[in-house]
Amino acid sequence: MSFEKLGVFKPLLDAIETLGYSEPTIIQKRAIPLVLQKKDIFATAQTGTGKTAAFALPILQRLRKPVEGKGVRAVILSPTRELSIQIHEDIANYSKNMSVKTDILIGGKDLEKQRQRLKSGIDIVIATPGRLLEHIENGLSLNDVEVFVLDEADRMLDMGFTKDIRKIHPLLPKRHQTLLFSATFSDKVRKLSKLILTKPAFIETAKKNTTVETINQVVYQVDTARKAELLAYLIGSRNFPQVLVFTRTKVSADELSEELKKDGLKVGVIHGDKTKANRLKTLTQFKEGKFRVLVATDIASRGLDIEELPYVINYELPSIPEDYVHRVGRTGRAGREGEAISLIDIYEKYDIKEIEKLIGQKIPKETVEGFEPDPNIRRKDIEDIKLKSEHKKQEKKFVKKKAAPKVTAKSLKSAKKKRKTTKRDG
Ligand code: AMP
Repeated sequence: MSFEKLGVFKPLLDAIETLGYSEPTIIQKRAIPLVLQKKDIFATAQTGTGKTAAFALPILQRLRKPVEGKGVRAVILSPTRELSIQIHEDIANYSKNMSVKTDILIGGKDLEKQRQRLKSGIDIVIATPGRLLEHIENGLSLNDVEVFVLDEADRMLDMGFTKDIRKIHPLLPKRHQTLLFSATFSDKVRKLSKLILTKPAFIETAKKNTTVETINQVVYQVDTARKAELLAYLIGSRNFPQVLVFTRTKVSADELSEELKKDGLKVGVIHGDKTKANRLKTLTQFKEGKFRVLVATDIASRGLDIEELPYVINYELPSIPEDYVHRVGRTGRAGREGEAISLIDIYEKYDIKEIEKLIGQKIPKETVEGFEPDPNIRRKDIEDIKLKSEHKKQEKKFVKKKAAPKVTAKSLKSAKKKRKTTKRDG
């Protein structure tokens, strides 16, 4: 099935041909005809599946005829600045043979300049929810919006944008098309979909929480103290041209990058303590090949688009199993082969089991010669691990039980009393 057969028109066909897209991906095959038919869509698709083109191409085609005096005709909401920039770049590439005007509204950039540009007539805006609301407060009207897209909806909700989306949605005209894309099919997303979608078509391109099929996944068991050494060894001995390395915390991201630099590797770091400008700069430099290694925390695991990134290494497993799926989704994009390596110490054995449960598959566990875990550490710590895993199970049960305590006048009173006592103690 070609893009042409899907109904994509010539100016877009020419543009994607120069980008080397010869065949539509699964999500594109299924979504493009439906979007062209103006249907609402609920799609579960991970980054790397070609989902941006799946909504961007038919939207561009729908808006191909300029309408005099109309305001913004399509709004694409995305959770992060980085992802917004990526979508904006992609749309600029796709629309280069068209006269559709696109703009990006993200924080950290001059609001007034963005306002002036909007006044000059923009058809499609790509925005983060907070910044879009700021513009709405400053007079931006959504009255002419024909298509509304929520990209990475699960991430948006996880990042606390629910309220913003609920504020934006009622401002859209009654008749509009909504496209919801989400990597996972969480309860929160489902709830939102009921609010904002009308008779949606469901598109499920990957099974719930499964990782992209073309990714080879492997776990190397190693002692905590030797992880950095093993990582440097793997990069060197396997001659990895570029690698994205994930840590769990900002501190370990910084520490690891210092260690790797000592080994003579060129390393960039992005995490939440870095300014947005700094993160973007590092990302660009990594894309330009100035760093061989990019160390990142999970904030960077979404919305990061690096062409043909072959290797992702989990230096530490994420604390939330779902983040594993997002992390390894950085590789094996659009059908290319990728490899995801996780270095796990004895303390992460429980975490890897949780991940395997989530993705519904076992990941092969191996050791690298010369880096085998010390069995003495194993014996000494095994009791701790059992306790930790037991504790987590108990915690889960407790959270479930305590999930939604009923709020009564009595419970409120007692909570107030408790707060007063705590204040005094503190
Ligand atoms: P996305 O899932 O939108 O982040 O896309 C992942 C990557 O796949 C991007 O680098 C796109 O440029 C690329 N891509 C999207 N569609 C195709 C296609 N049909 N053929 C080849 N590459 C594609």
